[in-house]
Amino acid sequence: APALVALSEPAVTTPAVSKTLFEKIIDRELPATIVYEDELCLAFKDIHPCAPMHVLLVPKKPIVQLSQAAPEDQALLGHLMLTATKVAALEGLGEAYRLVINNGAAAGMSVSHLHLHLIGGRPLKWPPA
Ligand code: 5GP
Repeated sequence: APALVALSEPAVTTPAVSKTLFEKIIDRELPATIVYEDELCLAFKDIHPCAPMHVLLVPKKPIVQLSQAAPEDQALLGHLMLTATKVAALEGLGEAYRLVINNGAAAGMSVSHLHLHLIGGRPLKWPPA
């Protein structure tokens, strides 16, 4: 009967929009070396560190990139920066470290989930490449 055919359809479990790599790390679906977490953000070590200390800070809210942040994200963005200073202290970087946000693929962005790079542990030259 048609009703039985309908009931035999598999349940739809795939979300409409697939998660980014960083959402999977936030949700503990992918492993990462987590160094800090609070209700708004997560900080974990970059898998390809460009310095002895290279941590990524990501908001749990999936903002695609900085240019897509909204006025309502102002406090969250400030929280990320202040948290970066806290993580820098936790990781023993003293007062010498760099924060980087790549916005857009041409600027080096490769994961479409806003993230701050916290880099330190060696002398850093300016300008970056
Ligand atoms: P972007 O180039 O988008 O500014 O920075 C993305 C960063 O994510 C890169 O530095 C890259 O090394 C890092 N990354 C890419 N895949 C992974 C991963 O699976 N785990 C971790 N911990 N970092 C990753």
